[in-house]
Amino acid sequence: MVKYKVEVDKESCIGCGVCSSLLPDVFELGDDGKCRIVEKFRVSDDESRSVGEVGEEKYADALNQVVESCPTQAIKVSKGE
Ligand code: SF4
Repeated sequence: MVKYKVEVDKESCIGCGVCSSLLPDVFELGDDGKCRIVEKFRVSDDESRSVGEVGEEKYADALNQVVESCPTQAIKVSKGE
């Protein structure tokens, strides 16, 4: 199954909430006001980075849209196996 590795650089994130508004199935704002991957897809999360793996192709377009919409380019998505 195609998986997307999603990485949020919390040091760049300004907590604007665009990602969690566009794709709440994958992104949420944490207690620190920074974006993180929701628990369902989360692989790791610390104060500087949140990493997740999304195995569902249906999110592909929305993930690209989020990457383009983040005002600080804090989100990276790469395709895995
Ligand atoms: Fe942070 Fe970018 Fe999400 Fe805004 S869109 S909350 S800056 S990761």
